[in-house]
Amino acid sequence: MDILALTIFPELFGPFWEHGIIKRAIDANKITASALNIRDFAKDRHHSTDDRPYGGGSGMVMLPGPLALSIQKARVAARDARTVLLTPQGEVFDQKKAVELSHEKGLILICGRYEGVDERICQDFIDEEISIGDFVLTGGELAAMVVIEAVIRHIPGVLGGSDSAEKDSFNDGLLEHAHYTRPRDFMGNPVPDVLTNGNHKDIEQWRMESALIRTFLKRQDLLKNRTLSQQEINILKKWCSDIESIIKAQSVFGVGALPGDQ
Ligand code: SAM
Repeated sequence: MDILALTIFPELFGPFWEHGIIKRAIDANKITASALNIRDFAKDRHHSTDDRPYGGGSGMVMLPGPLALSIQKARVAARDARTVLLTPQGEVFDQKKAVELSHEKGLILICGRYEGVDERICQDFIDEEISIGDFVLTGGELAAMVVIEAVIRHIPGVLGGSDSAEKDSFNDGLLEHAHYTRPRDFMGNPVPDVLTNGNHKDIEQWRMESALIRTFLKRQDLLKNRTLSQQEINILKKWCSDIESIIKAQSVFGVGALPGDQ
């Protein structure tokens, strides 16, 4: 995948390309990544990229001219790339969108500044508008980096053998299970026995239960919007019956009677 960020601060991307999974992906030729300086496409002697808004008011608006030229240049460098504008007014980015964008041949990510970009760019040069959440950043650079990080995890071969994007939270509609590493006992808090006994079937079962309970406790909305497997339903039923018996045990003290109890 060819990734091009269009920005007036290309230097922000230098360190980003040079660390972690992105660097690995570049080194392994899984992606190419660069930042184009929109200012280089400005025609006036001050290399202006913004101007005052028609109709008055505060703030500045990104000029359409330099943006259009930089997009055209990016499209030559990254043929068939999808052109995305980062904006708080776009569709809210999520894992599903990250997977979808990972199938693109290229991504051209336009980073706005000031009050945003001239509307004619949105109308005529953009395939899609993406927001990383319902809040307003000062510029689109961090938003572009968020999108890039989330997208490239899904390109085959970008994550090493043991890491897998498929096991990440959200991919199968659940949060991921809990993780533990050494030491086996940390300040009196031990690692669950099942993870150290070497029984892979038990470990898989524990991880499934851990993912389910975390999703139930932290993000019930995810469970409600997902078709559960029979195995998952069985786990939930077992919890229900365990909880019922705990409540029933309380009824000897005169509290905790379940509906329908005598
Ligand atoms: N005036 C704009 C508005 O209210 O919709 C906000 C402009 S913001 C100060 C400047 C730039 O930051 C935007 O053009 C966009 O590129 C980027 N940006 C801000 N918040 C963002 C978000 N939630 N998601 C993606 N990009 C964002």
